[in-house]
Amino acid sequence: MTEPREELAAIAASLRAYVEWHVDSGSWGIPRGPKPQASTHAPVPADAHAPAPAPAHAPAPAPAPAPAHASAPAPAPAHAPEPASAHAPAFAPAHAPAPASAHAPASAPAPAPTPARPLEVIRAEVAACTKCALAPTRNQTVFSRGNPEAALCIIGEAPGADEDAQGLPFVGRAGQLLDKMVGAMGLDPERDVYVCNIIKCRPPENRRPEPDEIATCIPYLHEQLAAVSPRVIVAMGNTAVGALLGTKIGITKLRGQWKLYKGKVPVMPTYHPSYLLRPSAQQREAKKQAWDDLQAVMQTLGLAAPSRPKA
Ligand code: URA
Repeated sequence: MTEPREELAAIAASLRAYVEWHVDSGSWGIPRGPKPQASTHAPVPADAHAPAPAPAHAPAPAPAPAPAHASAPAPAPAHAPEPASAHAPAFAPAHAPAPASAHAPASAPAPAPTPARPLEVIRAEVAACTKCALAPTRNQTVFSRGNPEAALCIIGEAPGADEDAQGLPFVGRAGQLLDKMVGAMGLDPERDVYVCNIIKCRPPENRRPEPDEIATCIPYLHEQLAAVSPRVIVAMGNTAVGALLGTKIGITKLRGQWKLYKGKVPVMPTYHPSYLLRPSAQQREAKKQAWDDLQAVMQTLGLAAPSRPKA
């Protein structure tokens, strides 16, 4: 059982994260300087988390809200029909492919899908991986943190120096902001989300991962996602969105629009916390947009928007 003192500290930390993020993102009215110009699209940031133009990607419909808590047990695999219970996800995109059985001849039942490998097996393989040029330069691989049972999976780009030192994703400055954002959603970063990256080793000097490094590493992420089976994915920044959805459309265009991973798992593209941390004229607006994106995720997960505290 948790000590009352520890419990109090945890509540205070989550309250602090909640308040700080709302103040930072400008969603709560603490006047700080002139009001930013309203704009629907943030300009293209010129850095590793910046967007790049590309051919249009088919829009995916916004999933309907589902009454379920983010820490609810992982749903049935997406190849199974959605259960019609109070905890069932309600994602039924109009263009979703019909189940295989709808078109298969009665005599040729669809083969059973290969079961996902256990996460610890994938983690061990990642830890021993030497498939790309990043292996000799890393201190250690960075697999995940949080709860593999969580309904929400958050995906970033690659480990930085802090992550490489600790062996955990998002433990540096970007991670602190991410925890604030998660706390502001009313979620606990360790209990209610599963956090990982597109690639598992730190690129030297925190450079952007090369396409061949992404191509070599991403099968691990696909396996991770098959094992975790999240109800909703948040993809943060260009690298995560591009690698996960196979698009080159920039994040400023894609953010806020529901997409589908493998045609079935809703993905919300949003800004990377490292971009939100960078001082810029657009930062405040970008934070507000990121908060809009997270609120859409909360709605889809059936989470109540955190109520504004009384003045
Ligand atoms: N940025 C990322 O994309 N991932 C991390 O783990 C840390 C910073």
